Amino acid sequence: MTKIRTRYAPSPTGRMHVGNLRTALYAYLIAKHEGGDFLLRIEDTDQERYVEGATEIIYRTLEETGLIHDEGPDKDGGCGPYVQSERQKAGIYLEYAKKLVEKGEAYYCFCTQERLNSLKKTVNGEEIMTYDKHCLHLSKEEVEANLAAGMPYVIRQNNPTEGTTTFHDEIYGDITVDNSELDDMVLIKSDGYPTYNFANVVDDHLMGITHVVRGNEYLSSSPKYNRLYDAFGWEVPVYVHCPLITDEFHKKLSKRSGHSSFEDLIDQGFVSEAVVNYVALLGWSPTDNQEIFSLEELVKAFDYHNISKSPAVFDITKLKWMNGEY
Ligand code: GLU
Ligand code: ZN
Repeated sequence: MTKIRTRYAPSPTGRMHVGNLRTALYAYLIAKHEGGDFLLRIEDTDQERYVEGATEIIYRTLEETGLIHDEGPDKDGGCGPYVQSERQKAGIYLEYAKKLVEKGEAYYCFCTQERLNSLKKTVNGEEIMTYDKHCLHLSKEEVEANLAAGMPYVIRQNNPTEGTTTFHDEIYGDITVDNSELDDMVLIKSDGYPTYNFANVVDDHLMGITHVVRGNEYLSSSPKYNRLYDAFGWEVPVYVHCPLITDEFHKKLSKRSGHSSFEDLIDQGFVSEAVVNYVALLGWSPTDNQEIFSLEELVKAFDYHNISKSPAVFDITKLKWMNGEY
């Protein structure tokens, strides 16, 4: 049997939300339950969303909660996380995008913003743009001349427009989309950075990730990921999408609740062990009635097949009770 390998792949965009902590915890537990590896990968290629200091918050939180990663590039004599902006500088994503271009699964696009704007349509009050594959029809010579002339470009995936793509999630089951909805998404942006989806798939493959654990906000874009695995001829990992976490009013847990991040909770006097214990139960239930778990006990008991589809309600009263038990 292949060793289980999971990763926590946060984008450093702010504080560590309860939902982020749960994703990290579940990824850790799935790996450790089977004696596997847990990796940390900082997904910081979106320069616009980057928040200074956010990466430090992630390290600190993982350290305080005991979710220690197993491998990574050397850093200050220890093992650091994988960092996508550093991998980008090494040219990894461009190299893989070019492999797809060679296979006819991707192509250079030189369209101007003006041309792309002219493709925009308003559907149900929402502006959408489906790329018309214009640049797919450029000849090899035209592409080379444009590149030699230093024309700005993006690299797009060449998706099929007919048929369907089915994607399997361990929690939510099969999800099928019409390929006409896929659009030829951008893989490499004009600034040379990969798009988030592309870097995510390339890295999951190169790092040998067997189980992808993430929040269910990514469920709808997952068929696009499948198409990328197919284009490369790579094996698709097991997907585990975790349910939404809501406040007591069944609204998505937000900053306004005042206790949506790990730091908020620690500032309010909750101990890290209680928070981890409580967060583990937001969407997962053990098969017996045990409620108080140490991290080691969670590792033993955790089975991702018992993660629920329904939203989990964050109940501060329950956390307060748990906090008293530590
Ligand atoms: N970088 C994404 C985030 O910040 C994670 C996506 C994933 O885990 O695949 O939420
Ligand atoms: Zn184009």
